[in-house]
Amino acid sequence: MPENDSPKKYPDTRRLYYEDAYLMEFKAEILAQTEHEELSSVVLDQTAFYPESGGQPWDKGTLGGAEVIKVLDLDGVILHVLKSEIAGGPVHGKVDWATRFDHMQQHTGQHILSQAFFETLKGETLSFHLGPDVSTLEIGLRAVSDAEWDRVEDRANAIVWEDREVKTYFVPEEKIGEVPLRRPPKKQGLLRVVEVDGFDYSACGGTHCRRTGEIGLIKLAGIEKIRGNIRFEFLCGGRALRDYRAKDRTARKLAGAFSCSEGDVAGKAEKLAADHKALKKRARRLEERLAAFEAQEVVRAAAGPVIAAVLEDKTPEEARFLALNIVKSGEFAVVYGAAGESQGHLIVARSESLKADLRQVIPVIGAVLPVKGGGGPSLVELVTAEKARLQEAIDAAVAWLRENM
Ligand SMILES: [Zn+2]
Repeated sequence: MPENDSPKKYPDTRRLYYEDAYLMEFKAEILAQTEHEELSSVVLDQTAFYPESGGQPWDKGTLGGAEVIKVLDLDGVILHVLKSEIAGGPVHGKVDWATRFDHMQQHTGQHILSQAFFETLKGETLSFHLGPDVSTLEIGLRAVSDAEWDRVEDRANAIVWEDREVKTYFVPEEKIGEVPLRRPPKKQGLLRVVEVDGFDYSACGGTHCRRTGEIGLIKLAGIEKIRGNIRFEFLCGGRALRDYRAKDRTARKLAGAFSCSEGDVAGKAEKLAADHKALKKRARRLEERLAAFEAQEVVRAAAGPVIAAVLEDKTPEEARFLALNIVKSGEFAVVYGAAGESQGHLIVARSESLKADLRQVIPVIGAVLPVKGGGGPSLVELVTAEKARLQEAIDAAVAWLRENM
């Protein structure tokens, strides 16, 4: 909205969602057509669209057939930002129910969860954010045990299953002291109170379910430490169902793969990880022994003190093992190319009794093909993207070694 077109030129928009969170279609008069971030925007006399505020995102839907992209509360005036321009006159608005109901489930669930944290652990809610996939709640606690986590969830879901009424009413500022609010109000004047019957009292302008039973289920889904407090992720209603469905499928897949029951999956996975670690250790020991044998063979067949080859199917690690075993068993210099991985690797090694500083071979190889890496006087390891040209680099290194060894 341009600066000279202040929203306060218009009267406050009547918020139909305050009166009925289930109202999905409405008629309104356009009070003004303007622009917001180069998009066509309108101010109406009344709206069922919820504007972003209090941690709850705006509603989706259409207005006069145009898609509603954003809904903003500009100091009491609600601005609807549209994908395309609409004609003037009375307009028909349609709020997307699936998104609205999802927000109602998360938001009502948040009130209950916040009170359950307070009642159970004296944990105060510091902030709330309703995200597109998960919502978060920052609670003033330093740590929570599994048993405490369960107690909070149990209490919150007991309130859901009691199917308590959720009431909304306005209370004048001077009477707000009579309402046992969980948190002191941020606003002044007439306050909108959302009461989960006898359980939680919050000053809130959001959209909520009529009864707690509509939330279905409240589930804490994640935990992280932040600013010395705890931030929980939580899921309500449809989101909790989708999460359960996905986890159930994963659990069944794992149980099938491990040929065990779902309850045994974690134990099986732990055992497999331990077995894997032990096998890796064993494989490494065997590789080392094999490299020692291989080195003996190479040394026996060697025509001179410089041994060089491209090892097509060896990993860089295997090539290094082999080279180190060779240089240990006599006076040798080894240049190996390992082509077994996506990049080409070069290993240049020499026996300790030889004098050449192998770091000097790096620029010699670098003049043939681009390489990265480094090393010390008796071992250099290089990587190149040009795997097909390893032999050229080896030839250059061998020539240098013959002159400088
Ligand atoms: Zn609320």
